[in-house]
Amino acid sequence: MKIIVLKFGGTSVGSIKRIKKVAGIIKSYAKKYNVIVLSSAMSGTTNNLINMSKNISESFSDREYDTLVSAGEQISCSLLAGQLIEKGMKSRSWMAWQIPIVTEGQHKYSRIKVINKVKILKYLKSGGIPIIAGFQGIDKKLNITTIGRGGTDSSAIMFAKFFKADRCIIYTDVEGIYTTDPNKLKTAKKIKNISYEEMLEMASLGSKVMQPHSIQDARLNRINIEVKSSFVNKPGTFITKRKNIINNKIITGISSTDNDAKVTLIGVKDRPGIAASIFKPLSKNSINVDMVVQNISSNGKETDLTFTIKSYDLIKTKKILNNNKNITFKKLIFDKNVSKVSIIGVGMVTTPGVTFRMFQALAEKKINIQVISTSEIKISVLINRSNITKAIKCLHKEFNLE
Ligand code: ADP
Ligand code: ASP
Ligand code: MG
Repeated sequence: MKIIVLKFGGTSVGSIKRIKKVAGIIKSYAKKYNVIVLSSAMSGTTNNLINMSKNISESFSDREYDTLVSAGEQISCSLLAGQLIEKGMKSRSWMAWQIPIVTEGQHKYSRIKVINKVKILKYLKSGGIPIIAGFQGIDKKLNITTIGRGGTDSSAIMFAKFFKADRCIIYTDVEGIYTTDPNKLKTAKKIKNISYEEMLEMASLGSKVMQPHSIQDARLNRINIEVKSSFVNKPGTFITKRKNIINNKIITGISSTDNDAKVTLIGVKDRPGIAASIFKPLSKNSINVDMVVQNISSNGKETDLTFTIKSYDLIKTKKILNNNKNITFKKLIFDKNVSKVSIIGVGMVTTPGVTFRMFQALAEKKINIQVISTSEIKISVLINRSNITKAIKCLHKEFNLE
C-alpha cells in the first residue's frame, strides 16, 4: 500500500470534539493508504508553555525551552491515538526520541536531518496508524530539540521525504492558501495551485499558513503538498512545481507582517566597513536584519542608516548598538509601529510596471512608504502599522485578486 502523510495543526486538534472529527478523517484514508499522522499541540498550548518560561526569565535556557514547549504535542498525540483506538483502530503515539527523529543545529531552531524508518515501517506493516509528535526531535547528545514555531509543517514534509510518501496533506483551519490572509480580508480568494517559489516568499513574508522551512524542504525534495481544511470537506490548494501551473495573474498573493521594528542610526561615519561594523555583532547575536537603506551623505562625512528587525529583538539590538565601540553615531531612533506588506508573483518577472502600480495604489490611499526591498518575484514596502489593512485592501484590488 502507498504511504500518505497527514498533518493536523493546532486548531484542528484544539478540542476533544475536533480530535474526534480528525480521527474520522484519518479513518477515511486508512482504507486506501498506510497513514502516517503528524500532529501539532492543541491550539494555545505551545503559547501557554512559552509564557510560563517567560515568567521565569526572558532569557530562559534554550535547552529547557525545547524540553518544555515540545510537551504540547505529547498531549494531542496521545489523545488522538486514544480516540483511534476507541474507534477500533490500531494506533499509538510516537515522540521524536522513540523513533528517533534526529535534528542538527541550535536549540529552538533545529532542523530535521534523519528520520529512522525501521520502527515506523514495521508498525505500518502491522496495520498500525502512527501518530507522531510534530515540532520536536532529538540531537546527537539525546537532548530534546524543537524546529521553530509552526514546525509541524516541516516534520510532515520530512516524513513525506523519508518515507517516499505518495501525498502529503496539511490540514488546517482555512480551506487552503488564499491571495491574502482570509481572516484579515474577507474578499481574499482561495488559490488552486501555487508554486514552491511563491509559497516560500509568502510564508517568509508573513503568511503563517505554512512554515517557510517546510516549503524549502518540499521544494528541494519535490514533494507535492495539498493544504486543506479539517473543518469542511472542500478542495484545497496544491503547492507544486512552477511548470505544473497555468496562471495568468501578475501577482499571486499579498503577505504582511505585524512584528517588525525600524531602527535608524543618525550621523554614522560614511566610510568603508561601517555597515559591516554595525551588522556583525547583530548577526553574532542571531538578530536577523531584514530591510536596509543608507541615505546618501550630504557632506561626504556622515550618513543615516535605517534597517528593520523583528520587534522582539529590539531591546537586545538597542543594547548591542549602544555598546558597540567600533561605531559612532549622533542619535538612535526606533519605531515599533511599522509593518511590511509584500506583493508576490512569478508573473512580475515578465511584466513591466508592477512597482509603479504598487506605489501609485498606495499613494492614492495616502500611505507613506518608508523602506523598499525587492527580489525577482516580490516587492516589499515598510509602512506605518495603522495603514496595513488599507494597504492590503487597495493592493488586492489593484492586482485583480478579488
Ligand atoms: P495550523 O495551526 O493549522 O498550523 P496556522 O495558524 O499556523 O494553522 O495557519 C493557518 C492560519 O494562517 C489561518 O488561520 C490564517 O489566518 C493564516 N494565514 C495567513 N496568510 C494566509 C494565506 N495567504 N492563506 C491562508 N491562510 C493564511
Ligand atoms: N506547536 C508548535 C507551535 O505552536 C508547532 C506547530 O504547531 O506546528 O509552534
Ligand atoms: Mg501552522
